[in-house]
Amino acid sequence: MPRCIYCQIEKGDEEFNREHVLPESFGRFNNNLTLINIVCTECNQYFGDNLDIHLARDSFEGRSRFIYGISRPEDFRSPRRSRIHIKITEGPLKGMYAYPEYSPVVDDVIIMPCAQVGFLIDGSYEYFLLEELPDAQYLEDNGFDSSLPNCISALGASVEDFRRKLEERQIDIPNLRLQRDGNSRSGSDTVLCEVTGIVDEIIYRAVAKIVFNYLAYFHEQEFLHHEAFDPIRKFVRYGECTEYRLVEARQEAILEDEPIEGQRVLAHLITTNVSGDGNSIVGQVALFNHMTYRVILSTNYIGQDLDIRRGHVYDCGAREISELGVR
Ligand SMILES: [Zn+2]
Repeated sequence: MPRCIYCQIEKGDEEFNREHVLPESFGRFNNNLTLINIVCTECNQYFGDNLDIHLARDSFEGRSRFIYGISRPEDFRSPRRSRIHIKITEGPLKGMYAYPEYSPVVDDVIIMPCAQVGFLIDGSYEYFLLEELPDAQYLEDNGFDSSLPNCISALGASVEDFRRKLEERQIDIPNLRLQRDGNSRSGSDTVLCEVTGIVDEIIYRAVAKIVFNYLAYFHEQEFLHHEAFDPIRKFVRYGECTEYRLVEARQEAILEDEPIEGQRVLAHLITTNVSGDGNSIVGQVALFNHMTYRVILSTNYIGQDLDIRRGHVYDCGAREISELGVR
């Protein structure tokens, strides 16, 4: 009977389904790498609901699906509390917080203002999200003058909400009025933004799964069930951590001749290799060839000398997967 590489339970064929090495939300490829009778339906379902959905909808790489046309703009969904934060860095709205949203009018993902208040300090607005307003003392210390016209710029919520929140923080604004939505876009089609985000354990587990799946595609069950892989499978399946970091994010290219910044090949890259003492098995994955995640699959594999050194390129333009030389 096949045995799932994550929960390690032996089950009948009917309790397994196809698992793509790389989730299909990152593109459909000809000659796709698919695991059959390797990941059970229960684990597959758990991953879809708890890991893959976050990687697809709420990570840098997930957002890139819309930038590079892998996903249709109308399928864009923004979580209520996102790992990703957008701040405008130029023009009259500099410093303002924004969030992405699908607009049926332009049939694209655009940015909209979050609920926030800008306080006029030293001639420009310092913005605070409505849920994170400063207290009156902070404003006073920084020279905020509530008697000036246009001393605040409030947008993204109703007047009542602003009144309530300002009152809570004991901030008294004699003439509170709202900027109209039309003004907030200031007639500009594009605006430079700074995007910051959190890469947390859910994202690390989702990328670790891609790399372990990739290893699984090329090797026998017996090898995959070696106890040396228990830390990585338990991390992916149950979120169990080890003393050492299993996944690290790095700003370096996997391909040897590519610059750290600037134009890179538009592709997903996955590699596995043996490193260090010869007992450690490591993998890398870079979705859209952006950030590289280095995954420690095992630190203590002792067994047959295996053909681990391998890499594949998922070409997002041609939708083809091809083999790669690994450094
Ligand atoms: Zn399972």
